[in-house]
Amino acid sequence: MSDLPPRGKRFPLSLDQLGAPKAAGASDAREPLKPQRHWQQAAAIKARQVPPSGLGLDSVGVRQRMVQRLRRDGLSDERVLQALATVPRHAFVDTALATQAYEDTSLPIGHGQTISKPSVVGRMMALMLAAPGAQQRGDLGKVLEIGTGCGYQAALLMQVARQVVSIERLRPLHDKARTHLAGHPQIRLVYGDGMLGHPAAAPYDSIIAAAGGDDIPPAWLDQLAPGGRLVAPMTAPSGRGQVLVLIDHVCDAQGSRFVRSLHEAVLFVPLKSGVM
Ligand code: SAH
Repeated sequence: MSDLPPRGKRFPLSLDQLGAPKAAGASDAREPLKPQRHWQQAAAIKARQVPPSGLGLDSVGVRQRMVQRLRRDGLSDERVLQALATVPRHAFVDTALATQAYEDTSLPIGHGQTISKPSVVGRMMALMLAAPGAQQRGDLGKVLEIGTGCGYQAALLMQVARQVVSIERLRPLHDKARTHLAGHPQIRLVYGDGMLGHPAAAPYDSIIAAAGGDDIPPAWLDQLAPGGRLVAPMTAPSGRGQVLVLIDHVCDAQGSRFVRSLHEAVLFVPLKSGVM
């Protein structure tokens, strides 16, 4: 755990923050420079046989291995894989959970909420990027995310978007995300009821929800730009469980309409109204 960079430190860390352990008998700062010192340190680190932990020095490598597994399991959009390889998921979860940050698993983020599995987050982003509008533009354009949670997905979205507006109804999580995403001016964090969308910054080229209700709130469709795409979990037609719903705002010679398709079963926290 001691290798975890202090909270608030951004990646990549500067070299002096890495704090590599000293090799036995290694020089201290007052001794003359020894070019072989780095090799001795590397040997000492190897001798300690630190298991890949997802933390500190090794986090880039562990993240890469997660990405390789996601690719092997069928996630093929290179931009999404690159985003997953870039954003340090362990910095968004509680320190005690950091060792699990690069497993393909959902993790608790407090207040009864969870951060979704990387494979599901990746799948939703890939669906968004496959929209004709996004393909033409080359990115997700202006995105509305409903359910900021800890801010991890907002950070991922920012890698493939021009601007991200993310809304959260639970004040402590909104505040937590603010801390995690300090220094990212292109991500606007809003405290409010995402069921109403965020009309002030509408329309959005892409809308993505991290919480699922019985239907898609009408406000989201009102705020989806022509050519835009929405992806959200929603109660399955059978009434049991949830499925991913994809809605395209199609505008062509026949006029403007919303085209909806249902996809695989998913498991998201419930979409709730009001703020707390
Ligand atoms: N994308 C998040 C996942 C958070 S879980 C992340 O990367 O961490 C889903 C979040 O949706 C929860 O924080 C929950 O509080 C929030 N939520 C549920 N209903 C909401 C609503 N109506 N408006 C805004 N946020 C909502």
